[in-house]
Amino acid sequence: MSSTETPMMIEVEPAICSEYCTIAPTTFLSEAIFKMSQTQGNYCDISSPKKKENYIPTRQHISCALVVENDQLIGILTERDLVKLVNTKATFQNTKVKDVMTSPVISLKVEEFTDLFMAYNLMRRHRFRHLPLVNQQNSPVGVVTLGSLRQAFHLGYFLRFRQAEEIMTHQVICANISTSVGELANIMTTQRVSCVVVVENQNNLPIPVGIVTERDIVQFQAMELNLEQLKTEKIMSQPIFSVKPDDSVVIVHQCMTELKIRRLVVTGKNGELLGIITESNLSQLLDPIEIYGILEIFRRRVSQLEKDKAILLQGKGLELQKALENNEFCLYYQPQVNIKTGKIIGVEALVRWLSPEKGMIPPNQFIPVAENTDFIIPLGKWILDQACFQIKQWQELNLPIIPISVNISPRQFCQTDLVTYIKEIIDKTEIDPCYLKLELTESLLVEDVEITLDQFKKLKALGISIAIDDFGTGYASLGYLQHFPFNSLKLDRSFVQNIHQNTKNAAITTAIIKMAHQLDFEVIAEGVETKEECDFLLTHGCKIIQGYLISQPLPITKFNKFMLNFNYFSNSEKSI
Ligand code: C2E
Ligand code: CA
Ligand code: CA
Repeated sequence: MSSTETPMMIEVEPAICSEYCTIAPTTFLSEAIFKMSQTQGNYCDISSPKKKENYIPTRQHISCALVVENDQLIGILTERDLVKLVNTKATFQNTKVKDVMTSPVISLKVEEFTDLFMAYNLMRRHRFRHLPLVNQQNSPVGVVTLGSLRQAFHLGYFLRFRQAEEIMTHQVICANISTSVGELANIMTTQRVSCVVVVENQNNLPIPVGIVTERDIVQFQAMELNLEQLKTEKIMSQPIFSVKPDDSVVIVHQCMTELKIRRLVVTGKNGELLGIITESNLSQLLDPIEIYGILEIFRRRVSQLEKDKAILLQGKGLELQKALENNEFCLYYQPQVNIKTGKIIGVEALVRWLSPEKGMIPPNQFIPVAENTDFIIPLGKWILDQACFQIKQWQELNLPIIPISVNISPRQFCQTDLVTYIKEIIDKTEIDPCYLKLELTESLLVEDVEITLDQFKKLKALGISIAIDDFGTGYASLGYLQHFPFNSLKLDRSFVQNIHQNTKNAAITTAIIKMAHQLDFEVIAEGVETKEECDFLLTHGCKIIQGYLISQPLPITKFNKFMLNFNYFSNSEKSI
């Protein structure tokens, strides 16, 4: 990583279980179990009370031991390996770890564990719940579990609109209280499930009364009891926690985190069992596009904050106010072109500060300051005024009129009088509102959702269109965004850059374009600089582009000339 790059903000450390246990292959299982339980803390012993208040959460367990010989990782012993023994004659006293462990074991070199996404994908691909980390010498240094990964991701952000129903497993393996534990173990091993829900039939409905996990069985195996004769009732865990199908996944996540449990049941109106949610159900929500988005949002935030801080320190806030009074700001215009028809279909207004002392200052150097002070409000109003007057002027000069996109900062967007203000300028300039488009960033959509939705509706009612700017860097879940009535998505430059060579960007971008079209949003690619990028985008269904390939942002007189003389097809021939 170069020194200018911001370090990855999601730390990998929280995803590693700090406590893990190692054992030798020749250890007897009885000893191995003892060691595992020492590392894992106590079992939770609650017999009857069904109330959450009476529940004492146990520590988060890792439920596995790493098998080590001569300092080398040679296998892993999981609860599943132990449960498999129930139906054999073997006991924990007379069986050694090497006879039941899973070997060879898939592990990850700790140096390669730079990215949670990769660890998660590996676990998902192989359908396992523990991923040992090793050093160069293949000696273990930690374990990643599905639970620890889940904790490390900040899921809350994009779980908001998802419901338990969408992620639960419908086909649950059930047993009743009189099923023998031997039979249960057999079911769990053959079906490869980590738990069974115990139900009781009440009025012809299956009512969940307990849950049996691999851990519950292992606990009794260790006591050398005859499991064939032991009834489920004796070993099941209670209380059983449940959610409703329309509960938000945020609640599921919170519940599992607070109570330190790994499964919840989903019940219907009459308390009947509908499904189950496990940690792997939750983890499956982390699709690659979303993870990429989360990593980006943190990286961006940090770099933005650093920039803001440096600039604020220079005390530029007041200078800006004076600059506005002295009329030192101006708008530059950058065209957006439909490369299929060759027509300019819109233009983005980009603010510039022409300082008499320092020359032209790009917005990245003063917008962050403006956003951190209230200065963005008067500046934003001035920008909106300018854009509307420009549309009016095209009208008056009998020039072609194209929609102008105006960037609206989050702070400006949350102003309650924004809509009233826009309506006033539209009335004053007598322009058709269809020529005004607002560009908003994704981050807006995850904060104050209600206010945002309300503003969106009011703006739509005025006849104004909305574009989501820098798409892909912030939130990146179209499933979530479709709740907002906007018209276009602007694909961020970081995805467009070298898209024809960068396979990761290409995969993300093509997925975004496809989803956007399915949902009926227009896609605009920004920052297109080369013919190769442009061709790639067109081949994959994105026909509207903005970027230096067409033109840099231009002052208005130059832009007007550009617009009148523009011929994409002859231009693009020339640029080859
Ligand atoms: P943005 O909204 O993502 O604007 C696109 C930026 O990419 C512009 O930078 C534009 O000049 C630049 N760009 C366009 N095509 C290319 C290309 O092919 N290659 C490269 N390397 N860059 C390209 P600019 O004008 O410096 O603006 C930077 C940011 O400042 C904008 O990003 C926007 O977030 C903010 N900004 C600009 N004008 C305004 C404004 O009027 N109001 C607000 N609130 N923010 C503004
Ligand atoms: Ca923009
Ligand atoms: Ca942008």
